[in-house]
Amino acid sequence: MDYTTSPLRKPLDEELTLFRDAVRKFLEREIAPHRETWLKNGIVDREAYRKAGEQGFLLMWADEKYGGLGIRDFRFEQILIEEQNRIMETGLLLTLHSRLVASYFDHFGTEEQKQRFLPPAIRGETIFGIAMTEPGAGSDLAGIKARAEDKGDHWLLNGQKTYISNGILGDVFIVAAKTDPTVQHAIGLFIIEGHMPGFSRGNKLRKMGMHSQDTAELYFDNVKLPKENLLGDPARGFYHMMKGLAEERLISSVVSLAMAQQAFKLTCDYVTERKAFGKRIADFQNSRFILARLKTELDVAQVFVDRMVELHNDGLLDSVMAAEGKLMTSELVGRVTDQGVQLHGGAGYMAEYPISQLYTDCRVHRIFAGTSEIMQEIISRAILKEYE
Ligand SMILES: Cc1cc2nc3c(=O)[nH]c(=O)nc-3n(C[C@H](O)[C@H](O)[C@H](O)COP(=O)(O)OP(=O)(O)OC[C@H]3O[C@@H](n4cnc5c(N)ncnc54)[C@H](O)[C@@H]3O)c2cc1C
Repeated sequence: MDYTTSPLRKPLDEELTLFRDAVRKFLEREIAPHRETWLKNGIVDREAYRKAGEQGFLLMWADEKYGGLGIRDFRFEQILIEEQNRIMETGLLLTLHSRLVASYFDHFGTEEQKQRFLPPAIRGETIFGIAMTEPGAGSDLAGIKARAEDKGDHWLLNGQKTYISNGILGDVFIVAAKTDPTVQHAIGLFIIEGHMPGFSRGNKLRKMGMHSQDTAELYFDNVKLPKENLLGDPARGFYHMMKGLAEERLISSVVSLAMAQQAFKLTCDYVTERKAFGKRIADFQNSRFILARLKTELDVAQVFVDRMVELHNDGLLDSVMAAEGKLMTSELVGRVTDQGVQLHGGAGYMAEYPISQLYTDCRVHRIFAGTSEIMQEIISRAILKEYE
């Protein structure tokens, strides 16, 4: 049972098939052998980004003149995500680097910024992160307090960010800061480089899951930023962030679903091996019915997500539809992993069984990139708007 070749999905053409094969081999050879060490260290090896870069797997969308492949078809990224979830490496955030952060350069970067920041990121020599959340503001982004003051020939940045993925490993961060505290949505996006005086990082935060991912606090104490490090319009950063929302939620949906598919497979493997009362766990009606319901939900979700990918490729995916995908898939992976742990019995609670890692890794999917409650706000607002 391999969901990647399910007849519900459009068959891949030769190029995509070869790509999946190349990614799978790369991940098995270069990434999977390091997983245990990275989990213990609480951080992945930065060399992994360089190796992914060598294969052309980073910022695949970027133009060839920067060293990219110019591949804008999102199915390539989807395959990368699915394959990464097959080996269950959740700390190596290739897609955060390549799309969630790098896309800002694509949409709002000047030619000079693209020339400066894209080539080393494509080679995996610099690692990207994005810093919006603060101790006092997460869902309510307009409430951030970090402040960037226009000092004529430079910007002066002060403030603090928290829960930042790649917080330790990151070399370049896009940081959201208020440019006019009297105007609620006056936010600018700034490019912060790791070596800048006044920039520092806290310790790695200890988390429930995603143990190989370095999540940290970032501090900005009178960081003097050259004017060239402003990304886009200094008063429209909030709207710049909105522009990427459909893709951000699509990515989140693809990741949640790939993880749910993996959890389902692990569960099927286990219940068809393990025996109790003289029969396989899979032979109890309760187990079979759980599997049947989950499989049905997974198939429906896969069709929905694949359709979102198609719409995105055609420039037609809107952020509300993508919020539906994010809500549905992040809740689904929660159910699949929870039932998966239950069907594993005590083994499901043991760290050595991968289902237990998936259970804790996926919990954050209902929280980051917009919580389930915020997704429901967005979707319900759109429904009610039609009645205004
Ligand atoms: C592992 C991890 C990695 C992360 N990586 C990054 C990163 O790289 N960069 C970054 O900027 N941020 C990152 N985040 C932060 C993440 O995006 C925020 O945690 C998330 O947006 C929620 O914000 P919050 O934690 O402040 O929760 P809050 O906004 O305080 O929410 C608390 C609760 O209140 C609910 N709530 C809030 N507002 C409403 C409302 N209007 N209606 C109904 N309910 C509401 C929420 O849904 C939630 O249940 C990361 C978080 C984690 C855990």
